Amino acid sequence: MSELRQIAIYGKGGIGKSTTTQNLTAGLTELGKKVMVVGCDPKADSTRLLLGGLAQKTVLDTLRTEGEDVELSAILKEGFGGTKCVESGGPEPGVGCAGRGIITSIGLLERLGAYTEDLDYVFYDVLGDVVCGGFAMPIREGKAKEIYIVASGEMMALYAANNISKGISKYANRGGCRLGGIICNSRNVDREQELLRAFAKELGTQLLYFVPRDNIVQHAEINKKTVIAYNPESKQAQEYRNLAQAVEDNKMFVIPKPMTQERLEEILLEYGLMDQIKDNYTI
Ligand code: ADP
Ligand code: MG
Repeated sequence: MSELRQIAIYGKGGIGKSTTTQNLTAGLTELGKKVMVVGCDPKADSTRLLLGGLAQKTVLDTLRTEGEDVELSAILKEGFGGTKCVESGGPEPGVGCAGRGIITSIGLLERLGAYTEDLDYVFYDVLGDVVCGGFAMPIREGKAKEIYIVASGEMMALYAANNISKGISKYANRGGCRLGGIICNSRNVDREQELLRAFAKELGTQLLYFVPRDNIVQHAEINKKTVIAYNPESKQAQEYRNLAQAVEDNKMFVIPKPMTQERLEEILLEYGLMDQIKDNYTI
């Protein structure tokens, strides 16, 4: 039996973490893998496509309404391809520590026996431009040892990815986490693939996969499905299968070497992304 791989997905808000994680998960289930997805975003939309839009009650909400005596079936629902889906939830906006949901959820999942022997993967879909406090929990406590950062050629996405790398390098020794690579979720920026390769190399990691931008993602989303479930024959479905295979085959795990803001801007300049830097300074 293969060892359980616990993976945290980080990246700037709106970059495509939840979309990519769920489509990647769908691809892994086609490879015969057993996967659990734990949404760690107060938005609680990390498992919507796998569950066909089924309203998943979050762990925090369940605890609030039902007290401590919770059944596993109340917080864990089965989705596409036999995936196990959990949403940790979060506090009301502006109240309390948003990372608390993750800590509570992982603890509860452990107590209720959700981490079964047959699992091949657990994905933590973690929000955040900064790896601070509670949001670093999956890697800080050594739960997720493997990390992927979703980014694009846009400056703020790379800025966030670099910051996340700082967090990873900080927790690498204590929690033992390693960066498995950058997943580019394309925004159709000029020379995006080259830029992401250069950025990844500078961090000491790799561009694991380049996911093209495609409107079929939105069509699938409206239908509350992953692309693989919505249109298995489509080109984009194959892209997600390739991404799943790249994750399955990955052997490169590093402690990233974050760069200075100056160096990041140099790289952007080198790839002709002058406008992004100018825009950033004129805001
Ligand atoms: P995050 O979880 O990082 O906040 P989401 O996964 O919710 O981001 O993605 C934000 C939006 O981007 C979604 O509405 C989704 O439809 C769109 N999106 C994500 N990836 C792609 C893609 N490869 N092509 C087209 N649209 C995409
Ligand atoms: Mg999300």
